[in-house]
Amino acid sequence: MRAIGVSPSRRKVELIDHPEPARRAPDEVKLRILEVGVCGTDREICEFKFGEPPAGSEHLVLGHEALGEVVEVGSGVQGLKPGSLVVPMVRLPCSDAACAACRSGRQDFCLTDTFPEHGIRRCHGFMAERIVERESYLVPVGADLREVAVLVEPLTIMDKALREVEKVQRRLPWAPGMGRRALVLGAGPVGLLGAMAFILRGCATTIVARSPATTPNARLAQSIGARYVSSREVPVQDLAACGGPFDVIYEAAGAPLAAFESLVSLAPNGVCILTGVPGAGEMVGFDGGKVMRNLVLQNQVILGTVNAGRESFTGAIALLAEMNRRWPESLRGLITGRHPLDAYAELLLNKPQGIKSILVL
Ligand code: BGC
Repeated sequence: MRAIGVSPSRRKVELIDHPEPARRAPDEVKLRILEVGVCGTDREICEFKFGEPPAGSEHLVLGHEALGEVVEVGSGVQGLKPGSLVVPMVRLPCSDAACAACRSGRQDFCLTDTFPEHGIRRCHGFMAERIVERESYLVPVGADLREVAVLVEPLTIMDKALREVEKVQRRLPWAPGMGRRALVLGAGPVGLLGAMAFILRGCATTIVARSPATTPNARLAQSIGARYVSSREVPVQDLAACGGPFDVIYEAAGAPLAAFESLVSLAPNGVCILTGVPGAGEMVGFDGGKVMRNLVLQNQVILGTVNAGRESFTGAIALLAEMNRRWPESLRGLITGRHPLDAYAELLLNKPQGIKSILVL
């Protein structure tokens, strides 16, 4: 079958002929992959900065944002049948008996760093015509979301972040939830989906990104009712001057300087969530004294978050359904191109075009 393989040893990204996997255990399900999203992590893997093939394989099949259709189920599968649509989870538990996170089904908090991640580390991904996975790592999604369900995985990041912020803010006896004012750093798919989720929670939401307010990303931000600010016009550290500080900041740009500079705009008791994964060695200069002083004197929290557990896949599907009702056009507008598998090189190796590009298998 056709798949996109990355070979770090040969430094190649190519369309390969990969053996079709077979079901072995009764709880396994075979999927026909319908669509796979392309993201920054995929591009980094294609630059050989990140990523690791499974043991014994020279290549890694890429892809971790997918929508699939069930084609076969084992005798022990209970909730899925041929024709069901599912979103596969990305991270699988490590095998260390002492890892409390993986043993509790929360491999997104793995303690050993030995977990496999589909299409990223030690486990083949979803840019392949067929895959086999256990039922417990497949999350059902309704046919009404068929056109947008490939966005579930990038939205799981926000769903997990919202759950974490809610838990952190339970420390405050008057239960402010998310607060009233939200700031999103970055206007890519993760940032735009995050902004939609904040607006659904009733937050007045500002998105700040480098591009001018005329880009399709900026227009999409405005179409959902967010305020879009170009950081070339208003520096990140000046954002609070207009309308006041932010109760929550969602960083989705992977730019450390902007992330730390934005902290001066965080409200008392506010939470800043970091989701970007920049490379090591990016030295930045910011007023560390002021930031640390505010963090302490104003009870602020900086929270890093990666990957998501099953509850956030289910949560993201529910959020996506709400977004689909409220902004059907803008949500579809996030997907700016659907391309055949043959177009992989252009999508993975060239400068990203549009907002979200999808490979259709
Ligand atoms: C994926 C996560 C993954 C992370 C680090 C992100 O692009 O969405 O599922 O945990 O990369 O590998």
